[in-house]
Amino acid sequence: MDRLAGANRSATSVRISQRKFSRPGSAAAVYLARADDVTHAMTAGGLSDGPVLLVPACSGVPAVVAREISRLNPPTVFALGSTAAVCDDTLRAAAGSRATGRLGGPDQTTTSVAIARHVWPGSAATVYLAAGGFSPDVIAGGALTDGPILLLGTDPSVLPQSIVSAIDDLAPARVVALGGQGQVTDAVLAAAARGRKTERIAGSNRYQTSAMIARRVFPTATVAYLARGDGNNIIDALPGGILVDGPMLIVPGGSTCSFLPAAARAYLADTRPTKVIAFGGAAAVCDPMLRQAALTAVPRPVPDCSRTRCVALTYDDGPGADTEALLNTLWSKNVPATFFVLGHRAKARPATVRRQAMEGHQVQNHTWSHPILRRMSLSAQHAEYRQTSNLLSSLGLPRTDMLRPPYGEYNANTRKLGVPLILWDVDPLDWRDRNSKTVRTRVLDATRPGSIILMHDWHRTTVAAASGIIDGLRARGYAFVTVDQLVPDARPGDVVFSRTRINRAG
Ligand SMILES: [Zn+2]
Repeated sequence: MDRLAGANRSATSVRISQRKFSRPGSAAAVYLARADDVTHAMTAGGLSDGPVLLVPACSGVPAVVAREISRLNPPTVFALGSTAAVCDDTLRAAAGSRATGRLGGPDQTTTSVAIARHVWPGSAATVYLAAGGFSPDVIAGGALTDGPILLLGTDPSVLPQSIVSAIDDLAPARVVALGGQGQVTDAVLAAAARGRKTERIAGSNRYQTSAMIARRVFPTATVAYLARGDGNNIIDALPGGILVDGPMLIVPGGSTCSFLPAAARAYLADTRPTKVIAFGGAAAVCDPMLRQAALTAVPRPVPDCSRTRCVALTYDDGPGADTEALLNTLWSKNVPATFFVLGHRAKARPATVRRQAMEGHQVQNHTWSHPILRRMSLSAQHAEYRQTSNLLSSLGLPRTDMLRPPYGEYNANTRKLGVPLILWDVDPLDWRDRNSKTVRTRVLDATRPGSIILMHDWHRTTVAAASGIIDGLRARGYAFVTVDQLVPDARPGDVVFSRTRINRAG
């Protein structure tokens, strides 16, 4: 995984340019688009012979853009849209002594037709029709490579004559509507197609639509791009349309680092690109989401524990203040763990439990409030279990299907809760002896193939011990797995101490 990120929108567009046009002289042109309002450059993603660089409306050329133009030294610099989008002064200043051009007119339709005729001077296999205005679907459509996107005017029921002429000239085999009936009506689509084949690409939201476009253009892919697409943030993705080596998946940003949208997850799982690249920094695409995408595309290999020494690291009682540090260690070592969380602490740190799940760890149930279950009625025990499972489900995690009873204390009723009880066979007593070296030594001495190691991410000394424990176990030939991978056959009511020591129910 990787990032293409600059300090601002212009700088990020330059990073994208540098990826596609790494050699000076390799770009036939540079296209300038207005950074704060891309309605006039909405279809710029169709351009492929030069980068789209984002500039302020009419207040000079950012130094980072000037340097990129100088590096590429293209014969021509184009402005996209009318002079209200990129003014003549900016265009001249950016071009210097180079030739200038303008692809655009007074409205979005004219500009989209101008870009279409520039990129496809002859014919195109497909023409895409989309609504005017600000449309995330059109920006995601920058990944389309078999034909231009033409934009309707503000009235979706009117087919502009310039689009009819452009379709006649391009003579496509089919005309495809981008978006639902609200964007392009069936009547307009049929009128535009004039007997040609028609199709429609419309997801239930922008995230799903971008994944549908990805499947259409890249049924296989070695690289995939993630772009923040909530609100107007999708502008950052516009210059990415020139990257035609993989699809652009639109994802939500914002202060809540949310799970990767299901459609993007399914696409990555099916196509398995070897690399996932985010546009922008962590504020655009958060680290856990990027890691989730990378893990979905290239999952951690699961060892065959009947032939390999497997071990499960388990952490109870969190999440706590040091859990994020532990997650950093686990990610850097590429190790999955299993977290038996307390419901009330998960409620206080929802971002941390989401991160656990997004980064490939198993998140399981350690009750809501850490009671001694065997002293409680079956229904009270069940309430403790269910409250935590419900909380995690409300945070977008899967429902839990394992329980670690607090203190390892359980009774016959606990075994009737409908899930396996996960105990342990290695206990370094990290809660009592707050010494990282002691914890590490005890773990390394006691671990056997198939072991389940009990620790507590609540304690800083335990978190600090993780790196040495992982290195030590690796040196002894151990592979790390989650508990569900270690004991895939654990059933409701089983009491599990290790891979080979299980007290079966009934
Ligand atoms: Zn506990």
